[in-house]
Amino acid sequence: MSGRLVVVGLGPGDERFLTPQAAEALAVAEVLYGYEPYLARVPECPGQTRHASDNREELGRARAALEHASSGARVAMVSGGDPGVFAMAAAVIEAIEAGPAKWRALDIEVVPGITAMLAVAAKAGAPLGHDFCAISLSDNLKPWDLVERRVRLAAEAGFVIAFYNPVSKARPWQLGTAFDLLRGVLPAGTPVMFGHAVGRVDERLAVVPLGEARSDMADMATCIIIGSAETRVVEREGMPPLVYSPRSARAAG
Ligand code: SAH
Repeated sequence: MSGRLVVVGLGPGDERFLTPQAAEALAVAEVLYGYEPYLARVPECPGQTRHASDNREELGRARAALEHASSGARVAMVSGGDPGVFAMAAAVIEAIEAGPAKWRALDIEVVPGITAMLAVAAKAGAPLGHDFCAISLSDNLKPWDLVERRVRLAAEAGFVIAFYNPVSKARPWQLGTAFDLLRGVLPAGTPVMFGHAVGRVDERLAVVPLGEARSDMADMATCIIIGSAETRVVEREGMPPLVYSPRSARAAG
Protein backbone atom coordinates (compact mmCIF):
# COMPACT_ATOMS: atom_id res chain seq x y z
CA MET A 1 0.00 0.00 0.00
CA SER A 2 1.36 3.40 -0.85
CA GLY A 3 1.42 5.92 1.96
CA ARG A 4 -0.20 9.29 2.16
CA LEU A 5 0.84 12.59 3.72
CA VAL A 6 -1.65 15.42 3.98
CA VAL A 7 -0.46 18.81 5.24
CA VAL A 8 -3.44 20.40 6.95
CA GLY A 9 -4.05 24.05 7.81
CA LEU A 10 -6.00 24.46 11.06
CA GLY A 11 -6.77 28.16 10.61
CA PRO A 12 -5.76 30.83 13.11
CA GLY A 13 -7.88 29.89 16.10
CA ASP A 14 -10.63 27.66 17.37
CA GLU A 15 -12.48 24.99 15.40
CA ARG A 16 -14.85 27.48 13.77
CA PHE A 17 -11.94 28.36 11.49
CA LEU A 18 -11.28 24.75 10.51
CA THR A 19 -12.64 24.02 7.04
CA PRO A 20 -14.79 20.90 6.54
CA GLN A 21 -12.07 19.62 4.16
CA ALA A 22 -9.42 19.96 6.91
CA ALA A 23 -11.67 18.30 9.52
CA GLU A 24 -12.22 15.36 7.16
CA ALA A 25 -8.48 14.99 6.46
CA LEU A 26 -7.75 14.94 10.22
CA ALA A 27 -10.51 12.43 10.95
CA VAL A 28 -9.21 9.83 8.46
CA ALA A 29 -5.52 10.15 9.44
CA GLU A 30 -3.91 7.31 11.38
CA VAL A 31 -0.99 9.42 12.58
CA LEU A 32 -0.71 13.13 13.35
CA TYR A 33 2.50 15.15 13.33
CA GLY A 34 2.94 18.78 14.34
CA TYR A 35 4.04 21.44 16.76
CA GLU A 36 2.54 20.66 20.17
CA PRO A 37 0.14 23.65 20.57
CA TYR A 38 -1.32 23.01 17.12
CA LEU A 39 -1.81 19.28 17.82
CA ALA A 40 -3.58 20.25 21.05
CA ARG A 41 -6.26 21.97 18.95
CA VAL A 42 -7.16 18.75 17.14
CA PRO A 43 -9.85 16.64 18.84
CA GLU A 44 -8.64 13.20 19.94
CA CYS A 45 -9.67 10.37 17.63
CA PRO A 46 -9.65 6.74 18.84
CA GLY A 47 -6.80 4.70 17.37
CA GLN A 48 -4.91 7.78 16.15
CA THR A 49 -1.33 8.33 17.32
CA ARG A 50 0.38 11.71 17.73
CA HIS A 51 3.96 12.91 17.36
CA ALA A 52 4.40 16.36 18.86
CA SER A 53 7.59 18.27 18.20
CA ASP A 54 9.35 21.53 18.90
CA ASN A 55 8.57 24.52 16.69
CA ARG A 56 12.14 24.84 15.36
CA GLU A 57 12.32 21.21 14.23
CA GLU A 58 10.44 21.76 10.96
CA LEU A 59 12.68 19.82 8.58
CA GLY A 60 13.24 16.95 11.01
CA ARG A 61 9.50 16.75 11.61
CA ALA A 62 8.84 16.76 7.86
CA ARG A 63 11.31 13.91 7.30
CA ALA A 64 9.87 11.84 10.15
CA ALA A 65 6.34 12.26 8.76
CA LEU A 66 7.48 11.34 5.23
CA GLU A 67 9.27 8.25 6.51
CA HIS A 68 6.18 7.24 8.44
CA ALA A 69 4.00 7.74 5.34
CA SER A 70 6.33 5.64 3.22
CA SER A 71 5.69 2.70 5.56
CA GLY A 72 2.11 2.80 4.20
CA ALA A 73 0.44 4.93 6.88
CA ARG A 74 -2.09 7.73 6.39
CA VAL A 75 -0.25 10.64 7.99
CA ALA A 76 -1.47 14.19 8.61
CA MET A 77 0.91 17.05 9.40
CA VAL A 78 -0.86 19.95 11.08
CA SER A 79 0.01 23.61 10.75
CA GLY A 80 -1.56 26.78 12.19
CA GLY A 81 -3.30 29.07 9.72
CA ASP A 82 -2.47 27.98 6.18
CA PRO A 83 0.20 25.27 5.85
CA GLY A 84 1.73 27.00 2.84
CA VAL A 85 2.27 30.38 4.54
CA PHE A 86 5.56 30.41 6.52
CA ALA A 87 4.75 26.86 7.58
CA MET A 88 5.09 23.12 7.09
CA ALA A 89 4.05 22.57 3.46
CA ALA A 90 7.24 24.12 2.11
CA ALA A 91 9.35 22.17 4.64
CA VAL A 92 7.71 18.91 3.51
CA ILE A 93 8.32 19.60 -0.18
CA GLU A 94 11.88 20.75 0.54
CA ALA A 95 12.45 17.43 2.34
CA ILE A 96 10.98 15.51 -0.61
CA GLU A 97 13.24 17.33 -3.08
CA ALA A 98 16.37 16.44 -1.10
CA GLY A 99 15.14 13.04 0.14
CA PRO A 100 15.05 9.45 -1.10
CA ALA A 101 13.21 8.62 -4.35
CA LYS A 102 10.48 6.70 -2.50
CA TRP A 103 9.19 9.95 -0.95
CA ARG A 104 8.35 11.25 -4.44
CA ALA A 105 6.00 8.26 -4.92
CA LEU A 106 3.87 9.24 -1.91
CA ASP A 107 0.38 10.64 -2.22
CA ILE A 108 0.92 14.23 -0.99
CA GLU A 109 -1.90 16.71 -0.45
CA VAL A 110 -1.93 20.24 0.96
CA VAL A 111 -5.22 21.32 2.56
CA PRO A 112 -5.45 25.11 2.83
CA GLY A 113 -6.48 27.05 5.92
CA ILE A 114 -7.29 30.65 6.78
CA THR A 115 -3.97 32.41 7.25
CA ALA A 116 -3.47 34.89 10.14
CA MET A 117 -3.33 37.98 7.94
CA LEU A 118 -6.79 37.24 6.50
CA ALA A 119 -8.31 36.80 9.94
CA VAL A 120 -6.71 40.05 11.18
CA ALA A 121 -7.77 41.91 8.03
CA ALA A 122 -11.37 40.73 8.45
CA LYS A 123 -11.39 42.01 12.07
CA ALA A 124 -10.11 45.42 10.96
CA GLY A 125 -12.36 45.85 7.91
CA ALA A 126 -10.75 45.52 4.49
CA PRO A 127 -7.10 46.64 4.69
CA LEU A 128 -6.11 44.10 2.02
CA GLY A 129 -8.63 45.50 -0.47
CA HIS A 130 -5.79 46.61 -2.75
CA ASP A 131 -2.31 45.19 -3.54
CA PHE A 132 -0.51 43.68 -0.55
CA CYS A 133 2.30 41.37 0.45
CA ALA A 134 3.38 39.33 3.47
CA ILE A 135 6.82 39.40 5.06
CA SER A 136 8.12 37.26 7.91
CA LEU A 137 10.29 39.37 10.20
CA SER A 138 12.14 36.30 11.39
CA ASP A 139 15.79 36.30 10.39
CA ASN A 140 16.25 32.62 11.26
CA LEU A 141 16.14 31.61 7.59
CA LYS A 142 17.25 34.81 5.87
CA PRO A 143 19.61 37.67 6.70
CA TRP A 144 18.18 40.74 8.42
CA ASP A 145 19.42 43.14 5.73
CA LEU A 146 17.23 41.28 3.21
CA VAL A 147 14.21 41.75 5.50
CA GLU A 148 14.93 45.49 5.71
CA ARG A 149 15.30 45.76 1.94
CA ARG A 150 12.00 43.98 1.30
CA VAL A 151 10.12 46.04 3.91
CA ARG A 152 11.45 49.31 2.46
CA LEU A 153 10.79 48.40 -1.17
CA ALA A 154 7.31 47.02 -0.42
CA ALA A 155 6.34 50.23 1.40
CA GLU A 156 7.83 52.38 -1.36
CA ALA A 157 5.89 50.39 -3.96
CA GLY A 158 2.63 51.08 -2.14
CA PHE A 159 1.91 47.56 -0.91
CA VAL A 160 -0.03 47.01 2.28
CA ILE A 161 2.30 44.72 4.28
CA ALA A 162 1.44 41.90 6.67
CA PHE A 163 4.20 41.12 9.17
CA TYR A 164 4.36 37.53 10.41
CA ASN A 165 6.70 36.46 13.24
CA PRO A 166 7.08 40.10 14.34
CA VAL A 167 9.01 39.50 17.59
CA SER A 168 10.39 36.74 19.77
CA LYS A 169 12.70 36.50 22.78
CA ALA A 170 15.60 35.89 20.42
CA ARG A 171 14.57 38.80 18.15
CA PRO A 172 13.68 41.72 20.43
CA TRP A 173 14.78 44.74 18.34
CA GLN A 174 13.88 43.85 14.75
CA LEU A 175 10.27 45.08 14.82
CA GLY A 176 11.26 48.49 16.25
CA THR A 177 13.84 48.83 13.49
CA ALA A 178 11.22 47.93 10.88
CA PHE A 179 8.83 50.60 12.26
CA ASP A 180 11.62 53.22 12.14
CA LEU A 181 12.37 52.26 8.57
CA LEU A 182 8.67 52.47 7.62
CA ARG A 183 8.38 55.91 9.26
CA GLY A 184 11.03 57.07 6.79
CA VAL A 185 8.84 55.99 3.85
CA LEU A 186 5.16 56.31 4.88
CA PRO A 187 3.11 59.16 6.42
CA ALA A 188 2.99 59.11 10.27
CA GLY A 189 -0.80 58.70 10.10
CA THR A 190 -0.65 55.41 8.15
CA PRO A 191 -2.83 52.90 10.04
CA VAL A 192 -1.05 49.96 11.67
CA MET A 193 -3.20 47.02 12.83
CA PHE A 194 -1.98 44.70 15.58
CA GLY A 195 -4.03 41.50 15.57
CA HIS A 196 -3.22 39.36 18.61
CA ALA A 197 -4.40 35.71 18.85
CA VAL A 198 -7.16 36.33 16.36
CA GLY A 199 -9.84 33.63 16.48
CA ARG A 200 -8.94 32.64 20.05
CA VAL A 201 -10.43 33.64 23.42
CA ASP A 202 -7.71 36.23 24.06
CA GLU A 203 -8.16 37.87 20.64
CA ARG A 204 -7.31 41.61 20.48
CA LEU A 205 -7.12 44.14 17.68
CA ALA A 206 -5.47 47.55 18.05
CA VAL A 207 -5.29 50.17 15.30
CA VAL A 208 -2.68 52.91 15.81
CA PRO A 209 -1.03 55.46 13.51
CA LEU A 210 2.45 54.45 12.32
CA GLY A 211 3.90 57.40 14.26
CA GLU A 212 2.76 55.73 17.51
CA ALA A 213 3.48 52.08 16.63
CA ARG A 214 5.83 50.40 19.12
CA SER A 215 7.32 46.95 19.18
CA ASP A 216 5.94 46.22 22.67
CA MET A 217 2.44 46.28 21.14
CA ALA A 218 3.19 42.91 19.51
CA ASP A 219 4.20 39.43 20.60
CA MET A 220 4.73 36.10 18.85
CA ALA A 221 0.97 35.60 18.49
CA THR A 222 0.49 38.92 16.69
CA CYS A 223 0.15 39.50 12.97
CA ILE A 224 0.64 43.16 12.06
CA ILE A 225 -0.83 44.82 9.00
CA ILE A 226 0.84 48.05 7.89
CA GLY A 227 -1.42 50.15 5.70
CA SER A 228 -0.23 51.88 2.56
CA ALA A 229 -0.39 55.65 2.12
CA GLU A 230 -3.87 55.04 0.62
CA THR A 231 -5.28 53.01 3.52
CA ARG A 232 -8.09 54.84 5.36
CA VAL A 233 -9.71 54.67 8.79
CA VAL A 234 -13.46 55.26 8.92
CA GLU A 235 -14.29 56.37 12.49
CA ARG A 236 -17.67 55.45 13.98
CA GLU A 237 -19.40 56.74 17.10
CA GLY A 238 -19.16 54.19 19.93
CA MET A 239 -17.88 51.45 17.63
CA PRO A 240 -14.47 50.31 16.44
CA PRO A 241 -13.23 52.05 13.28
CA LEU A 242 -13.36 50.38 9.86
CA VAL A 243 -9.96 50.27 8.15
CA TYR A 244 -9.86 49.77 4.40
CA SER A 245 -7.62 50.12 1.38
CA PRO A 246 -9.56 51.58 -1.56
CA ARG A 247 -9.77 49.30 -4.59
CA SER A 248 -8.23 51.91 -6.86
CA ALA A 249 -4.88 53.73 -6.64
CA ARG A 250 -3.42 56.85 -8.18
CA ALA A 251 -0.77 56.72 -10.90
CA ALA A 252 2.72 55.61 -9.86
CA GLY A 253 5.22 58.26 -8.82
N1 SAH B 1 1.00 29.30 8.85
C1 SAH B 1 0.61 30.39 9.73
C2 SAH B 1 1.76 31.34 10.01
C3 SAH B 1 2.91 30.73 10.78
S1 SAH B 1 4.13 31.90 11.21
C4 SAH B 1 -0.57 31.13 9.10
O1 SAH B 1 -0.88 30.90 7.93
O2 SAH B 1 -1.19 31.95 9.80
C5 SAH B 1 3.62 32.32 12.86
C6 SAH B 1 3.08 33.74 12.88
O3 SAH B 1 1.76 33.77 12.37
C7 SAH B 1 2.96 34.37 14.27
O4 SAH B 1 4.19 34.89 14.73
C8 SAH B 1 1.95 35.47 14.00
O5 SAH B 1 2.57 36.55 13.31
C9 SAH B 1 1.01 34.79 13.00
N2 SAH B 1 -0.18 34.19 13.63
C10 SAH B 1 -0.48 32.89 13.69
N3 SAH B 1 -1.68 32.70 14.30
C11 SAH B 1 -2.13 33.94 14.62
C12 SAH B 1 -3.35 34.42 15.24
N4 SAH B 1 -4.29 33.60 15.66
N5 SAH B 1 -3.49 35.77 15.40
C13 SAH B 1 -2.52 36.61 14.97
N6 SAH B 1 -1.37 36.20 14.37
C14 SAH B 1 -1.19 34.88 14.19
